[in-house]
Amino acid sequence: MSVSIHPSVDHGVPQGTPGFSGGKLHCNCATDKVEVTVTSDCAHNHVCGCSKCWKPEGATFAQIAVAPRENVSVTAHPEKLVIVDETAAIQRHACRDCGAHMYGRIENTGHPLYGFDFFHTELADVQGWSPPTFAAFVSSIIETGTDPSKMDAIRGRLRELGLEPYDVLSPPLMDFIASQVAKQKAAA
Ligand SMILES: [Zn+2]
Ligand SMILES: [Zn+2]
Repeated sequence: MSVSIHPSVDHGVPQGTPGFSGGKLHCNCATDKVEVTVTSDCAHNHVCGCSKCWKPEGATFAQIAVAPRENVSVTAHPEKLVIVDETAAIQRHACRDCGAHMYGRIENTGHPLYGFDFFHTELADVQGWSPPTFAAFVSSIIETGTDPSKMDAIRGRLRELGLEPYDVLSPPLMDFIASQVAKQKAAA
């Protein structure tokens, strides 16, 4: 029996479409769906084991990516969006009716990832996004109920899928964040 990671990757990680230019995300409500339009491909797509990222029912990991905030806009039913935690660095805007997180935005201009909005590509009605390339915060799934004895099998399955498991973010993303912090220090 193979371990379920996330419905978007459980049957193999999809290929992205070269030159993909984005699409519309919809919440899970049957009617009056919140719509978010993303006008570019995503970057840094990954599966995430942290407790803050929204996951579809039954998934062990979330799938989360970013795009420049100027490419992300709410195009239908903004009145249904609520901020999950106003005090969090990433303000996650969720549908008050179905609970789907439509986008996450950083308002603190001093944050190293300021300028990127976070979103879940599986909410899109089109395929072709840059696929996930690694797994972040893998050990954190224990905090939300995964039996620690299953971790070897889960890390093994992630490697089999080509999603290298990390217990924070991937080294390139950690380096990017550290570079932003270094730039801010140099400018201060
Ligand atoms: Zn909804
Ligand atoms: Zn996360």
